[in-house]
Amino acid sequence: MNVYDGERMAELMAEQGLTPAEANEADLVVLNTCHIREKATEKVYSDIGRLRKHGRTPMIAVAGCVAQAEGEEIVRRAGVDVVVGPQAYHNLPKLVADAASGKAALDTDMPLDSKFGALPARKRVSPSAFLTVQEGCDKFCTYCVVPYTRGAEVSRPFAAVIDEAKALVDAGAREITLLGQNVNAWSGEDGRGLDALIRELDRIEGLARIRYTTSHPNDMTQGLIDAHGEVEKLMPFLHLPVQSGNDRVLKAMNRSHTRDSYLRILDRVREARPDIALSGDFIVGFPGETDAEFEDTLSLVDQVRHAQAFSFKYSPRPGTPAAEMDGALPAAVMDERLQRLQAALNRDQAAFNADTVGRTCDVLIERKGKLPGQMLGKSPWLQSVHLMTDAAIGDMVTVEIVSAGPNSLGGVERVRAAA
Ligand code: SAH
Ligand code: SF4
Repeated sequence: MNVYDGERMAELMAEQGLTPAEANEADLVVLNTCHIREKATEKVYSDIGRLRKHGRTPMIAVAGCVAQAEGEEIVRRAGVDVVVGPQAYHNLPKLVADAASGKAALDTDMPLDSKFGALPARKRVSPSAFLTVQEGCDKFCTYCVVPYTRGAEVSRPFAAVIDEAKALVDAGAREITLLGQNVNAWSGEDGRGLDALIRELDRIEGLARIRYTTSHPNDMTQGLIDAHGEVEKLMPFLHLPVQSGNDRVLKAMNRSHTRDSYLRILDRVREARPDIALSGDFIVGFPGETDAEFEDTLSLVDQVRHAQAFSFKYSPRPGTPAAEMDGALPAAVMDERLQRLQAALNRDQAAFNADTVGRTCDVLIERKGKLPGQMLGKSPWLQSVHLMTDAAIGDMVTVEIVSAGPNSLGGVERVRAAA
């Protein structure tokens, strides 16, 4: 979502006549920030320090969730020029102008009118484009800052999403990934769910692939599961975070699903779309997590066999209930658990990739590879595929997968459909 927000801010500033530049030559640098874990937040301050080392200091704007959470504190601590929250960045041009004339420029409002209407039309995008359809979160998992930094769950209207999708296709997109903090909680004005939106996108000529991320187990409706079996453009990939394989930990996290209810959802998804690639998020070392409870996470991983996944050490976030809980774990215990979990997830990712060898599938060409004549694209299961071809960026190529590594596949071109 930060990539999407960054693109939209760049488009806004382009309208003001600004052009992209390297950080050491720029007049304005916008740091679009993440607050989800402490490490991401600290990085903002070290990046600001680095920008100042170049001799001539650009105007610095801090956007995103760190801006939202820390507000004026960033001005006090780092003396930046502009602070703008994730729901207010349509005001960036005005804030930059204010800062240039020496006025304080801080906007962390969460206005009722969404920012999207105030953003310029999409003009040029890559073949694989992002489209935010839902923002915010009402779920309040005890470890998470998102409900505080991104605000309450809000869905963009059906027609606004379809219009932006069409504009993206006109601007060169062949694949659209629908985005939301809980994208499958998207709900139209008339109560229709994400599956209805996907079915409408399916009708857009020129759009070849639809994806969505990130979803919550409790919003995985039967309609959406059915869409995985019925909508050809909906890719066989599901990112469905579970966080832990232990019910006591899940309860303490306020996850409102259990190990079993999560596994049952995956069974239904696999029934609808047998070749679906599964992904997830995991947190190790939540306060009070015992060895046995961590073992439950490992056994869940053994059971699911994810195609890929993200895993994190628990990071206490100011203002969240978990940050006040007893039972903080030593760093060494968290490190060891993360290593064991990642070893299991890497094993499964390598096995999933190896399983793809011998299959023939479509690859959407996204960029040039390192070698002359080499191009990189994505398989339907979101794996990176490299191949030798004279196909162009945006072409869909039919490829036979001939080799697999831990993080990518090698393919040979069979048939091409031009963009
Ligand atoms: N809405 C999504 C996740 C959004 S945050 C969901 O509920 O599934 C992305 C991921 O960051 C989470 O799934 C979680 O694994 C991780 N995360 C969030 N807060 C964290 C924290 N305090 N410490 C470590 N990881 C965290
Ligand atoms: Fe955070 Fe996701 Fe939980 Fe919302 S559902 S509080 S975004 S982890």
